[in-house]
Amino acid sequence: MSMCVVDRAFESLSLSQAELPNDPTYQVWLPGQGCPVERCGVPRINVLCDMKRHWREKHEEIVAKYLCPACSYVSKRKSNLTYHYRMRHGSLEAGSSVVCPENVEYHFNREYIDPYPLTLEVVLGRKRPLDKERP
Ligand SMILES: [Zn+2]
Ligand SMILES: [Zn+2]
Repeated sequence: MSMCVVDRAFESLSLSQAELPNDPTYQVWLPGQGCPVERCGVPRINVLCDMKRHWREKHEEIVAKYLCPACSYVSKRKSNLTYHYRMRHGSLEAGSSVVCPENVEYHFNREYIDPYPLTLEVVLGRKRPLDKERP
């Protein structure tokens, strides 16, 4: 009896693993390939983190701007602001952040390219592509 239960558990485990992300059938982008969004046309993106950054900058409608609380420096990237602050205005106390809600502005992304029907999750193979038809 108990063997049977274990077998079944194992079976469903391996089934769900087969459906896991990196199934190449659903992966529409791999490192070194261009951006899969048709109208985008970026010919080559080498690594995953570049892809995520590219996606944030081009395929998300709203972008955040991070403002330095001590000068007029503005960055699209939180990490850049933190780096800037450290270099320019001295180190931060451990665990504190220059980025607090007052220092973030949200803007419509002027470079936005609608990635429909793709999403970042689809591009990274974490979800299956949507049906092609728009609702
Ligand atoms: Zn793109
Ligand atoms: Zn500054």
